[in-house]
Formats: sequence, structure tokens, C-alpha cells
Amino acid sequence: MGLWSRIKRVALTDVAVLVKGIDDGMLEEVERVLLEADFGPATFELVERLRDKMTRGQLKTEAVFREWLLDDIAGMFDGRAADEFNFGDGTGPAVILVVGVNGVGKTTQVAKLAHRMVTRGKTVLLAATDTFRAAGSEQLTVWADRLGVPVVTGVPGGDPAAVAYDAVEAATARGIDVVIVDTAGRLHTEDDLMAELSKLARVIGRRREGAPHESFLILDGTVGQNALQQGKVFSGSVALTGLIVTKLDGTAKGGAVVGLHREIGTPVRFLGVGEAVEDLEPFDPRRFAERLLGD
Ligand code: GDP
Repeated sequence: MGLWSRIKRVALTDVAVLVKGIDDGMLEEVERVLLEADFGPATFELVERLRDKMTRGQLKTEAVFREWLLDDIAGMFDGRAADEFNFGDGTGPAVILVVGVNGVGKTTQVAKLAHRMVTRGKTVLLAATDTFRAAGSEQLTVWADRLGVPVVTGVPGGDPAAVAYDAVEAATARGIDVVIVDTAGRLHTEDDLMAELSKLARVIGRRREGAPHESFLILDGTVGQNALQQGKVFSGSVALTGLIVTKLDGTAKGGAVVGLHREIGTPVRFLGVGEAVEDLEPFDPRRFAERLLGD
């Protein structure tokens, strides 16, 4: 059920509520629905703006209320156009670093980003820096074969930063446009692994000035406040340039995207909306708000 239906069901059972103006019971219900949809702290800001609107008697009908809600949610996002990548100065490959905890869809989003770039005429090389789990690099190799792009992998137990370095080296030698670096999934609570990530970014920067040009954190849109925690810690280790929020196909919890953007302060650049390579959507605040509200 879309967010709008849920709000209507609990807060607008009596349409007179809007005509009468401010109604604390109704505001509380809206607040509860937003919290359930994972809006997090952004809930309270929205409800305060709603209270203000109602006090002024500016939301007299359901249609006006829905339109206001749509604008308000879309307005909580700012930032660059989602589909513009920073490709650097063109003197060498652009490097895109992809990080996140296990199972959020990191490797799948790497494949989706590669597909997106290949269909736009860019040449791409993938780097599998997960030298700890053989399955990690095997999965990326399968994607690379399917996409018809080269992949650089390391030796088991090797230094992930060395693999990334070699990948940038190989891409430079071959005149490839973009290197997408997949990293091992790690928990944000594992300090040594977070430090390894900082090192990875540093080493890439040593091989190629200005790199990584983009650093994307992949977050699972269905895990709510936990994703917020991940975002805060990862952004302390790597200078993130964007969030990609996954698994937003078929969930009523999309409100997490609002909370994530507000709390982490990093723009949402893409949404993962399925398991296929095409299922990566440049983030559009208005379209997102429409889908979240539903109906
Ligand atoms: P990683 O461990 O973070 O690299 O995660 P994977 O890329 O292996 O993905 C974990 C699971 O999530 C796989 O079953 C993927 O097919 C699935 N997945 C990835 N992206 C999405 C998405 O946008 N939507 C849905 N529903 N599933 C996804």
C-alpha cells in the first residue's frame, strides 16, 4: 500500500479534518505512518511544516494535501543531476569506487553501473578487490563476461589496494575510460577493514590524480536505521560522492531514502530497482516521491 493510502486511512477518515484546520490527533497519525515508512528524523521536520500549513488553513482538500506532500518530499533532496558522472580530466581513466556491507547488492550495482556506461559508449574495466572470498571475485568475473568487459582480479589473500592499483595501471595502458572498483563487503563496525578501505582510496589516488572520481556507498533500502549507521561510518572512511539505495522494488519502506539523504548529507544518485543490469534508475526526487506516495 502506498504512503498516501496509509495516511488517508489513519489521518483522513473524516475529510472535515482538513477544513477544520489544525488537528493534533491527525498530525500524530501522520507522524506514525512516516516513522513506519522509515523516514527517521526527517519525519519531525515534515510534520512541523504540515502543522504550519494546517494552522494557516492552506490544506483544505485531499488533493491539495497530497500535492503539498509530494512537493515537500521531493523538496527534501538537493544536489547534482544523478546521471552525470565525474569522469575526471580525461588524461586517464576515471575511477569509481563502490563500497558497502555484505549483501546490500554491491557487486550487482557495479555490474549495473558498468552496463550503463558501456551503453553510453564508454570503455570499462572492472576490478575485483575482494581477495578474501573467492566467491566475491568469481561473481564479478561472471558479470564481466556477460557484459563483455575486462576484469582484473588479485591472488587469494593478496592486498586489495594492490589489485586496485594494477587495475588503474591496466586501464591506463589500454586507454580504457572507466575503472569500477568492487570492494569486499565489510561491516561498518570492523575498524581494520574500514581502515583498509581508506588505504584503498589513497593508493588509487596515488596512481591517478583526482581518483577515485566517484565513491558510491551501496545501501539496502529495506533496513532502515541500520543503513543510516552504515552511512555515517562509511562516510568517515571514504569521501563519498553518492549513495545508491537498492531493493526499492516492492517495499513500503522507501522513506529510508529521505532519512539517508538528510542524515548522511550525501546525494542519492541512483536507486536499485531489481536484479537485472538495467534495474538502475538515476534518482529523480519528484518521480521518487510520486512512487512513494502511490495511487
Ligand atoms: P553484495 O554482497 O553487496 O555484493 O551483494 P550482491 O550484489 O551479491 O547482491 C545480493 C543480492 O541482492 C542478490 O541476490 C542480488 O540479485 C540482489 N539485488 C541487488 N540489487 C538489487 C535490487 O536493486 N533489488 C533487488 N530486489 N535485489 C537486488
